[in-house]
Amino acid sequence: MTRAVRLAAVVLAEVWGCAATSPQADPGFPVPPPPPVFDAGEDPALDGQNSSPLPIIDAPDDATEPVVPAEEVWLKGSTHVHAKPSGDSSEPIDHVIKWYEDHHYDFIVLTDHNRVSEVAGDTRGQITVSAPASGLIVLAGIELTHNPTGCQPQGDKRKRCRIHVNALGVTGRPGGKLEWAERKSHQRIDMYLAAFNAAKALGTSVVQINHPQWLWGMTGDLLAELSHHGAHLVEIYNAQFAKWGLGDRDHPSMEAIWDTALAHGVEMWGVASDDAHDYKGNKGAKYPAGGAWVVVKARRDPQAILEALAAGHFYATTGISLDHAEVDGSELVVEVSASESGQFTIQWIENGKLVDTVKGKAARHAIPQAGFIRAVVLGDDGKQAWIQPARRP
Ligand SMILES: [Zn+2]
Ligand SMILES: [Zn+2]
Repeated sequence: MTRAVRLAAVVLAEVWGCAATSPQADPGFPVPPPPPVFDAGEDPALDGQNSSPLPIIDAPDDATEPVVPAEEVWLKGSTHVHAKPSGDSSEPIDHVIKWYEDHHYDFIVLTDHNRVSEVAGDTRGQITVSAPASGLIVLAGIELTHNPTGCQPQGDKRKRCRIHVNALGVTGRPGGKLEWAERKSHQRIDMYLAAFNAAKALGTSVVQINHPQWLWGMTGDLLAELSHHGAHLVEIYNAQFAKWGLGDRDHPSMEAIWDTALAHGVEMWGVASDDAHDYKGNKGAKYPAGGAWVVVKARRDPQAILEALAAGHFYATTGISLDHAEVDGSELVVEVSASESGQFTIQWIENGKLVDTVKGKAARHAIPQAGFIRAVVLGDDGKQAWIQPARRP
């Protein structure tokens, strides 16, 4: 075990240990076993990142240590963001950052296609490319992107496939375009595993499966296998491919696929993202920003945000804000924010089946003896929020 991995393991153990024993710090979420901590390889990496990830900018004379916020708060973020280096967006990175600042996000992950983009200077070894003391945190990331034909299981009739995987909080900075794809095997699992290996080499600690039903081909069994191999997150809603996510007569919806994977007992958390490429707000823009995001319960600290994502301490939304989305004793609790107006319906989904529907802004439901319970909030304006699955310890 390298020093970086040992340090990361200690920090993770402290975080989970704290959440399990201190009522003050306990966010009330289901606490899963720690996710695998990837070896950062040759990267100088995590040393120093874990204990004091926020740089001091213009620190006052009497400041001797960086201030690490202690309190967990709800933080709005996007785990899937494109800018000009992606090749299919015309927006410079600084404009993209300004857009998310103007729209009151707390963090984003820059995930250009097959590139780790820098913002300014040299941030090799850090999980952020920009981490101001206040304002938008920009985590380093990449969308490992491979568009082959002829995958198994097969996708659409033209046999096109989209193997896209986000690595969040990477410490490596390969520079230029990364070549990583598996081109010998036609099995989707082999292609995904090649992406996981590339993510690991980049020093990531959180892996996300993107728009799994775009051009079809994902199954619940495959998704469960990807979880076993280290994927923490899956896009259950991608604003650009919402139609695909709903499924059709011949293909299950993304939520149905997620439920099938969860039935295998895996811990895999559902993300909503905008997968934004266009920030000008033009009518008819192909991939507009802002359609979906996550809200994470964490300290305002890059490492804490990554750990909260990996542990499922967040909800996914297309616009509904929640005050509560957590386990309380033997129940899962959901409450729409007091600031939200309109009519709401809360659906309870137990082991893949809709078991109860409640009209109103708040509800709670017993966690089943076996399997999982999760909830979806539907607004009368068509917006939605997804609460992560909860299980008994
Ligand atoms: Zn993609
Ligand atoms: Zn993308």
